[in-house]
Amino acid sequence: MSKPHNIIWHDSSITVEDRRKQNNHSSFVLWFTGLSGSGKSTIANALAKELYDRNIRNYVLDGDNIRNGLNRDLSFSDEDRTENIRRISEVSKLFVDNGTVVLTAFISPFIQDREKAKAIVSEEEFIEIFVSCPIEECEKRDPKGLYDKARKGEIPDFTGIDSPYEEPVSPALTIYTNEQSVTESVEVILNYLKNRKLI
Ligand code: ADP
Repeated sequence: MSKPHNIIWHDSSITVEDRRKQNNHSSFVLWFTGLSGSGKSTIANALAKELYDRNIRNYVLDGDNIRNGLNRDLSFSDEDRTENIRRISEVSKLFVDNGTVVLTAFISPFIQDREKAKAIVSEEEFIEIFVSCPIEECEKRDPKGLYDKARKGEIPDFTGIDSPYEEPVSPALTIYTNEQSVTESVEVILNYLKNRKLI
């Protein structure tokens, strides 16, 4: 993509440190990645409620919701998946700058795209959480009936079926949703954030 001309960055009068101080907490991105049906949205939303109850400002960016609005012009081709993640990363960066804890729930199947997301947000503020679940289990859950449709050939480029999922090499955390309950997964993440003094 070409660089825009005649656009000059305008510094804001309120810094991210000001906003964090006012909020009384840090801001960062919890980037959930995993197969469709692995539990990204479920865990992100359950965690969001726990953070909210602790007065931690947060916002969930969810795959389906973003694809209904901001990214409704994008398909599931490799190129558009990359653009999908780029836009979400830029939005996440704005939220972090606003002092908000962001929870993103996107399959984000490609390592390279997640690396780019990390670079856009910044390495210190990007926490990758791998929501691990065997595809057989995801397919059994099939909360949106998507695996069924994909197997019938009604959804091309479906991750795990005819489009690859590249597992994170060294995620900050791995959640095993076929072994842990939602409550246990949320507990693990909260403990991680407490240990890192992020909450
Ligand atoms: P994703 O966002 O990864 O596509 P969803 O959160 O939409 O996945 O769907 C996961 C489904 O699996 C939900 O219907 C959820 O209730 C179910 N589920 C069953 N066990 C678990 C678990 N231990 N952790 C998370 N989700 C689970």
